[in-house]
Amino acid sequence: MSPVKQIVVLGGGFAGLHLVRRLERRLRRSEASVTLVDRQNYHLFTPLLYQVCTGELPPHAVAYPLRDATAPAGFQFRQSEVTAIDLERRRVGTADGELPFDHLVIALGSVTNDYGIPGVRENALPVKWLSDAEALKRHVLDIFESAATETDVARRREQLTFIIVGAGPVGVELASSLRDLMDHTLRRIYPSIDFNADVTIHLLDGADRVIPGMDPRLSRIAMKRLERQRVRVLLNTLVLEIRPGAVHTKDGAQLRGRTIVWSGGVKVNPLVAALDVPKSKDGRIVVDDHFRVNGRGDVLALGDSAYFENRGKGLPQLAQVAVLEAPAAARNLAALVRGEPTQPFVYHRKGDLIALGRTQAGAEFATLGGFVLGGFPAWTVWRVNYLMQLLGVRNRASLLIEWILSFFAGRLVANTP
Ligand SMILES: Cc1cc2nc3c(=O)[nH]c(=O)nc-3n(C[C@H](O)[C@H](O)[C@H](O)COP(=O)(O)OP(=O)(O)OC[C@H]3O[C@@H](n4cnc5c(N)ncnc54)[C@H](O)[C@@H]3O)c2cc1C
Repeated sequence: MSPVKQIVVLGGGFAGLHLVRRLERRLRRSEASVTLVDRQNYHLFTPLLYQVCTGELPPHAVAYPLRDATAPAGFQFRQSEVTAIDLERRRVGTADGELPFDHLVIALGSVTNDYGIPGVRENALPVKWLSDAEALKRHVLDIFESAATETDVARRREQLTFIIVGAGPVGVELASSLRDLMDHTLRRIYPSIDFNADVTIHLLDGADRVIPGMDPRLSRIAMKRLERQRVRVLLNTLVLEIRPGAVHTKDGAQLRGRTIVWSGGVKVNPLVAALDVPKSKDGRIVVDDHFRVNGRGDVLALGDSAYFENRGKGLPQLAQVAVLEAPAAARNLAALVRGEPTQPFVYHRKGDLIALGRTQAGAEFATLGGFVLGGFPAWTVWRVNYLMQLLGVRNRASLLIEWILSFFAGRLVANTP
């Protein structure tokens, strides 16, 4: 009998977690030992992260314990920082020692991209990890506390100016939800603030429409909603520099505000950047349609780390893509462990969803010929979709309860650590 193969999966995000869940059904324990490595002991459900930023959900609702997926399957989980990947020696370096592998899956995701713009890292708040969301929420609530006692009108208005850079899905959903937080919770508890005159939300983007990666009809739905919510959308606006409390644009304008949020996009994980394998222009690992890296059957990559070409373009860096790739990659990995032939992955896009606050959303259904829906019906689709996608009974129950509470009783605005 051949020895048990060591499979190491790097990253418990959408790609790594869903791959591991599928491997459970495809591999016997006598065939392979599976170790999932992540620096966090939970999987972060990023599509709902903006709701943590704006007090609609507590952090635990969007964090699913990775051991819940590994332990029952007889797999190992190691919480550690991955520090190096040595493809030649077939070893992964972690903060807690080396891990040898026979098969490696690289699913390390991406990191915030500041595009080299000066001051982004120092003076803007990112929205990528759970700690970012908690920090942003604390910052927003602190701002309201100090603005509530500020008697100088100009200073109060500057304190209450929020600038969100990047009008992709994250920026749009955040801007809309931030306005809802103010209109439906903060307005009631901060009577000294004039929410119509004192508060401004700016949303900036270099593109000529909001959510430029989505169907233009969704952009129009989003734009209309943002205008109704009094979000000032500045398109075709490129950022030159971010200084403390000020965004400088390439056309010479300066926007002043105490809160600057950076939702400008992502780039590859530095560990991926350091690998000497074929890469795409944006630095992702080029994989073939079996997810193999450089044609090697012992190294697969998927999710945000991988560049999977489809109709001449790389698949977008989306949870939706990672979740669709994972079962196919798991099937191929099991085949590779057994020395059986693998199958190519064929991508079928499902569509896009964009949340636009308390009772509004936009939805595009690729499977229904590109049918687009807006308003409350799309909001219902959005909520049901994410409720079903979230893993774990506890997470789903928390989500449902917190959504109901936030809707009827107001958001979570105690500024706890
Ligand atoms: C705020 C936000 C909202 C989003 N909303 C949507 C949405 O609505 N719909 C959608 O389709 N997509 C959305 N996305 C994109 C989506 O999150 C990504 O495309 C998806 O997470 C990619 O999955 P992945 O498994 O490749 O990476 P990730 O989910 O990022 O997982 C990577 C994992 O690797 C771990 N890791 C990274 N580096 C190390 C290291 N050195 N050592 C140890 N562990 C490490 C991380 O902790 C993480 O758990 C959103 C992204 C963000 C940031």
